[in-house]
Parts: sequence; structure tokens; C-alpha cells
Amino acid sequence: MANQESLETRIDKIIKVPLISSKLPVSPLDFLVASNIGGLASGLINPSLPVYFALGTLAVFYTWILGCGIPYKQKLFQAKKINFLETFGADIKHLNEMPLEERAREESVLIQKVNDEYSPPSNNRREITEKVEEVVTAFLSGYTGERVETKGKVRKNNLIGKVFYPFALGITNPMDGDITVPGGLGVMEAGTIAHETAHRKGYMKEMEAQVIAYLALSTSGDKELVQSANCDRLLYQMRSMASKRRVRIKNIQNSGLRDEIKRDFLKCCRRGPYAALMRTAITPIYVLRMKLSGQKNMDDYSKGFTNFLYTIGNKVT
Ligand SMILES: [Zn+2]
Repeated sequence: MANQESLETRIDKIIKVPLISSKLPVSPLDFLVASNIGGLASGLINPSLPVYFALGTLAVFYTWILGCGIPYKQKLFQAKKINFLETFGADIKHLNEMPLEERAREESVLIQKVNDEYSPPSNNRREITEKVEEVVTAFLSGYTGERVETKGKVRKNNLIGKVFYPFALGITNPMDGDITVPGGLGVMEAGTIAHETAHRKGYMKEMEAQVIAYLALSTSGDKELVQSANCDRLLYQMRSMASKRRVRIKNIQNSGLRDEIKRDFLKCCRRGPYAALMRTAITPIYVLRMKLSGQKNMDDYSKGFTNFLYTIGNKVT
């Protein structure tokens, strides 16, 4: 990875990506969904009302696409992106399988490391978002020579997330770069925001977003961000060794992790009945979307990510 001096000298272009949706109090997509539901319900009062709702929804949809979506996409298309195979010597199709014994070794080293180096996360959403935006931007610009700036807020709630993706740790709308990450993730919060920030910068593949988030945060020199990167790597390593959620939860409980980290890890794994139901319903569609966009499956988050770090020789010591 480039050092700070070479990062500064290599930057020859700054691209400021407008995130207009993220400035609005309500996500435009939420507004559209709510107005559709309102339109259908209004038919119970007056049969002509859904027509007005439909026209209003259409107007909001075009305003959203023209006002938020197109300016965002236009700027992103101008930006250079990292070619993972050329840059790192590995990508989603060129990975070596990490041996099980090496996974176990890494898990035990990371447990010791995050226990020893623990410091309570700040939970300051604004500060974390700004720090993450800066380190991810600097990390990518070290390879591309372009600072692709995506400064915008990260929502804590949205309707789409609550209804359709209640199991997700974070969501990025690829149409306008709007991000939602529910609060209270503790040590996992910065890593999750970094993953969504990578999506916001145009890296939509899950393994790539995992890798960018980890490498940017782990080399940032910021204690809170480095801790989150290590915890992220550990949790997904644990996930890669236990595909069944029940086993994973048991493994976390018996891991020897300190209570504060254990609590945050369990929050990322446990879900209520509605979230479990939606995950079962959405997963086949989600995996189909992944495959259509050149990805493998849900293992890209865990096995793909850890295999990538193993392939490029990024070893935890
Ligand atoms: Zn993602």
C-alpha cells in the first residue's frame, strides 16, 4: 500500500460526488414506497384517489431520478476504479482457499488482539462517518490517483430496510448512494459504515466492499477504526468456519472474547422471527442478484473476504 507521502503526490484529480438524497430528511425511496401504500389505502375512501397518488408518485420518482440519481451516477462514472486482480493479484475469481488450520490460528490471534487492545467505541455517528469517508477516500486514491469524495450522512433508519432487509447490518441504495446503518453496532459500526461507503463509491461487489473497508481501516492509524477492522475480520472469519447461525452464536459465546465485544458480535448475528423470515424469503433473490453481477454467493462476505486476505498474504500477527 502507498504511504502518506506518495498518496499526496499521486493525486491528480478530485471528484466530488453529489449525494443529494442523503441531505433529505427522508429517503426518497421510502417516500415512494409510503406514497404507493398510501395510494392503495386511499382507494378504500374514494376510488379516484389512487389515480392522484399514482400521478404524484410518478412525479416524485422522476424528480428523484433526475435530481438525485443521475447527478450521483454521472460523477461516479467519471471516476477510476481499482482493478483488483491487477492491483492486488487476486479477485473474486482468483482466490486460494485458506486452510482450516490457518483460519483457526487467525481466529485465536485475533481474539487475543482485540481483547488486549480494546477501547470503548465512541458511538459518535457523525465523527465516525467523517473519519471513515476520509480514510476510504485516501486509501482508494492511493491506487487510482483520484480522490473520489462522497461526503454525506449515514441514516440510522429507513422504511425499506425495516420492511425488506431487517436482517442487514447496512444498506446502500445503488441509485443515489443513500446509506442506512442502524445504530448500536459498537465495535462493528465503523467497519459496517466503511463497507457501505465502498458501495457508495461504486464498488458494489460484496467481497470488494469487505476488502476495501478492512484494508482502509486497518491501515488508518486511528485506534477506533483499526479496532473495528480487526473485529470485522474476526467476526467474518468465525462466520466462515460456522455457516449455521446457531453454531456461530455458540462459538462466539464460548470464544473467550471480552464481554463488550461478545455483546456487539452477538447483536450482528441474532435476529428476531420477522428478520429471520425476511432473510429466508429474500436470500434466493439476493443470491441471484449477486450471481448476475459476477459474484458467487453469500460466502463472499466471509470465505471470499478471508480467502482474499490469505491470497494476498495479509497475515495477522
Ligand atoms: Zn454490502
